[in-house]
Amino acid sequence: MNHRHILLSIFERMLQVYGPRKWWPAKTRFEVIVGAILTQNVSWKNVQIAINKLQKNGLLNLESMLSAETGKVAENIRSSRYYNQKAWRLKGFCQHVKERYNGSLDALFNNDMEILREELLGLKGIGKETADSILLYAGQKPTFVSDAYTKRFLDRFGLMDGNAGYDQIRNYFMQNLPTDVYIYNEYHALIDHHCHRICKVQPDCSSCSMKIIGEKLNCQFPEQAKQGSPG
Ligand code: SF4
Repeated sequence: MNHRHILLSIFERMLQVYGPRKWWPAKTRFEVIVGAILTQNVSWKNVQIAINKLQKNGLLNLESMLSAETGKVAENIRSSRYYNQKAWRLKGFCQHVKERYNGSLDALFNNDMEILREELLGLKGIGKETADSILLYAGQKPTFVSDAYTKRFLDRFGLMDGNAGYDQIRNYFMQNLPTDVYIYNEYHALIDHHCHRICKVQPDCSSCSMKIIGEKLNCQFPEQAKQGSPG
């Protein structure tokens, strides 16, 4: 099985069916970073409410967020759950950029990708998915973002078993796809779209446009996913 061919065929099909997702939905790099930190364990709708509030109150930039009281930041992001903890995380990120890069995101993203990834992972509350989202969507660095949807997606196509770890999944995509920010950007966004709408916990195989490509590629959809479906 040629994994590069399979992954690119699935990508092209999703792009054709769903169209480009054009992530990340944000106007500035700082907004991407704030969104990536806030989106942990909460719906995007609630993140947007928090971002709009930060914007309205002049806190959606590094300097203002840094000089604001943590309680004030928390109050603005109340809709995003665990808001006190997330306020500290946002402030911690800002503090780090201020101290180490004089507040410059350009200087931050001038770093080598893997070195910067390790640095971000060393900050409180920034896990692998958040770090890779920041690197890819704010820093335009060629890293692949994985999440629960990605895991399910690979499992359903029989490309990797459901117990694969984060780095195993990230390496799988990065080793088999061209090193290309556009492809990594759209691929992650398309997987999320597909798994949110169609390939859900109970997959809607009867209306899935991907089953054709799965059959063509001889992908072995697992029995559970096959129930009630020709997938
Ligand atoms: S056919 Fe079913 S299991 Fe396969 S990708 Fe589509 S929804 Fe998921």
